Amino acid sequence: MLAFFDERQRELPWRETSDPYRILVSEIMLQQTRVETVVPYYRRWMQRFPDPASLAAADEEEVLRQWQGLGYYRRARNLQAAAREIVERWGGNVPGDAKALADLPGVGAYTAGAMASIAFGQAVPAIDGNVRRVMARLLDDPAPGAALLAREVGRLVDPHRPGDFNQALMELGATVCTPRSPDCAACPVSEGCRARAAGTQGERPRPPRKKEIPHRVEAVAVVVRPGPTGWEVLLRRRPASGLLGGMWECPGVDVGPHGSEVDEACVVEGAQDVALRAVMRQQPPTEMRPPPLLLDRVLPAVDHLFSHRRVTYRPVRFHAPAGLPASTSVRWVGFHALDPLPIPRAQERILGGAEPEEGV
Ligand code: SF4
Repeated sequence: MLAFFDERQRELPWRETSDPYRILVSEIMLQQTRVETVVPYYRRWMQRFPDPASLAAADEEEVLRQWQGLGYYRRARNLQAAAREIVERWGGNVPGDAKALADLPGVGAYTAGAMASIAFGQAVPAIDGNVRRVMARLLDDPAPGAALLAREVGRLVDPHRPGDFNQALMELGATVCTPRSPDCAACPVSEGCRARAAGTQGERPRPPRKKEIPHRVEAVAVVVRPGPTGWEVLLRRRPASGLLGGMWECPGVDVGPHGSEVDEACVVEGAQDVALRAVMRQQPPTEMRPPPLLLDRVLPAVDHLFSHRRVTYRPVRFHAPAGLPASTSVRWVGFHALDPLPIPRAQERILGGAEPEEGV
C-alpha cells in the first residue's frame, strides 16, 4: 500500500505541508466535497486565513463568503469555532492528541484520525467512505460496523508511516477500488481481497436503502426599489444556526409539497405575505400601515438539491417605494453590491435574473 501511495498519490496542495492547521482545513473542506472542487477554495482560504489566529479573528460574514459555493456551510462556522478554541485553549497550536482533536467543533472520528496520523504521526485509523468500501471488499463483508473497521484498519496501519498508510487506503478507494467499477487488475492488494476471490466486489458494501427525499416549494419575495445608484433588493439574514446559517437571502416561505397542490396564486400569496412581514419589520413601531408593495411578475423557478431535501424556489418580484429604513437582519443592497455578502448558491441564481430591466 505504501509503495502504491508513493507511486500513485495525486499532487495536492495540502500534501505539500505538515502544518496541522492546513491539514485540518483540507480535511474539513474534503468532508462531502470532491477533491477537484476543494483545491481552489483551499488555496484562496490559505491566502486569506493562513493560520488559526487570522481565522479566529475574522468576521463570520467574511468566513461564509470565502466558503460560498462549497456548500454545507456549517463546516465553515465549525472551522472558525475550532480556530477560536485552538487560539484560546491551545495557544494557537492545533493539539496533537486524538482525543483533544475530536473535541474540536466539526471534528469527528474520521477527521481526528486523519489529523492524528497525517499531521502528528500517530498509528491510528482514519475511516472515511472510501476506506469503508475498500475494507468491505477486502473482508467481503456487506455491512462492516464501525468497531470492526476501526479494529481491522488499526491492525493494518503502518506504525512508521501511519498518515501515508491511511491516505493510501483512501487513495485506493478514490482511484482504483471505485464504487461502480473497481479496477481489480491494477489493485496492489488484489491477492488478499476476499470479494475479488468470491466475485462479489459489486455488492460490497451493500448499498444503503434509498430514502425518498422531500421536495418542497418555497415562495420567494424579490422586493426591489430604486436606490441612489441603481436598483436595490431587500435581503434578510438567516438565523446563525441551522441550514445556511448567517447567510443573506430574499425572504421566502415554504408553501407546500412540490406538485399540483401548489399553484401560482398560492406562490404569489405566500411571497406577498413574507415580503410584507420583512418590510414591516423595518418600519418604526409607531407606523402600523404596511407600505405599498406593487406586484410586478413571477420570475423563473430555481431548483436546488440540499443533502436531505429538494427545494423549488418560486420567486415573485415586487416594487417597494424608496425611503424604507434598514435593520440589522434586513438590508437593502444594490444589485451591483451583492458580492461581499455570503449568499447561498440558489439565491445567487434567483438574484441573477431578478434585477428589473428598466432603469431606475
Ligand atoms: S481487488 Fe478489487 S475489489 Fe478488492 S480491494 Fe482491490 S480494487 Fe477493490
